[in-house]
Amino acid sequence: MSNVIVVAEVHDGHVTKPTLELLTLARRLGDPIAVVFGPAADLTGVLGEYGAATVVEVDDPLLGQYLLTPQTEALAQIISAREPAAVLMSATMDNREIAGRLAVRFDAGLITEAVDVTAEGTVQSVFAGNWTVRAEVTKGLPIITVKPNTCAPEAAPVDATVEPAGVSLDAATSGARITASEEKRASGRPELTEAAIVVSGGRGTGGDFSAVEALADELGAAVGASRAAVDAGWYPHSYQVGQTGKVVSPQLYIANGISGAIQHRAGMQTSKAIVAVNKDEEAPIFELVDLGIVGDLHTVLPAVTEGVRKAKS
Ligand SMILES: Cc1cc2nc3c(=O)[nH]c(=O)nc-3n(C[C@H](O)[C@H](O)[C@H](O)COP(=O)(O)OP(=O)(O)OC[C@H]3O[C@@H](n4cnc5c(N)ncnc54)[C@H](O)[C@@H]3O)c2cc1C
Repeated sequence: MSNVIVVAEVHDGHVTKPTLELLTLARRLGDPIAVVFGPAADLTGVLGEYGAATVVEVDDPLLGQYLLTPQTEALAQIISAREPAAVLMSATMDNREIAGRLAVRFDAGLITEAVDVTAEGTVQSVFAGNWTVRAEVTKGLPIITVKPNTCAPEAAPVDATVEPAGVSLDAATSGARITASEEKRASGRPELTEAAIVVSGGRGTGGDFSAVEALADELGAAVGASRAAVDAGWYPHSYQVGQTGKVVSPQLYIANGISGAIQHRAGMQTSKAIVAVNKDEEAPIFELVDLGIVGDLHTVLPAVTEGVRKAKS
């Protein structure tokens, strides 16, 4: 069977859930090979559990010193050496750039933000989720970025071994150098684009996100915000969901005090289930919900949070 390269995402020493989803999808196409940027020895357990018998370790000091060029170069060398049938990466900003650069180098077929991957091709949800595109790469290597929460990770245990990538990276050919970096303040909540549940607030919060945050914490969810809310300075810009913000595709999206403008929909419409709380029963967000609650979010959310708390205890 052909090999399929899966670029593993590692946060705080842990393999991310989207990576496990990629390994699950990769097994539909061939035998997954996981590529890890950084030390891989401690990750063989989980990567092997999801079917990667080979873990290729790229552990090079240049990785943290330059913006994405070392990762691109390393992957290019690994692809040339191993000639995979496809390359799968999760649809992060960084990976989108790496995938584009690789596609140019290899004259490859590039599919971005896929919501399903099968041996027959890929599925994308485009134009704010209003159209479904089925695509097949007919020429060159398929390079595919896949949205988080595309499938449930399924274990398929194998014994995994680490192989050094054997790539040679050169500072002289690398691009923008990183001169300083600052760690993002941890919220303790899941990463917005990866979370299975997102609870968002809009202008209807009036600037008070405490009820949104309380429900998010009770559900183990990430917090999102509309552009109106972030533009008002009520929540940081990095939490904006939408066309000019982050695109999320969780199992459950709960929109609170958000009208449902097309630019907001563009970032959340592919959520598997959508719930909205809005005091205006004519609000456009109600056109796309699975459950709509007409009411004041400052009353509804504490009641829902309490209900979830009781149900859990
Ligand atoms: C080029 C461009 C890009 C854009 N990109 C984005 C983007 O990425 N993301 C984005 O979100 N927007 C984006 N916008 C802005 C978008 O058009 C809307 O202006 C924005 O989404 C509105 O945010 P909102 O729903 O929070 O506010 P509003 O439209 O003001 O809606 C507030 C809602 O809250 C309800 N409400 C008020 N009080 C309460 C209460 N106490 N309880 C319950 N409900 C209440 C109201 O009935 C209303 O429906 C973009 C616009 C442009 C032009």
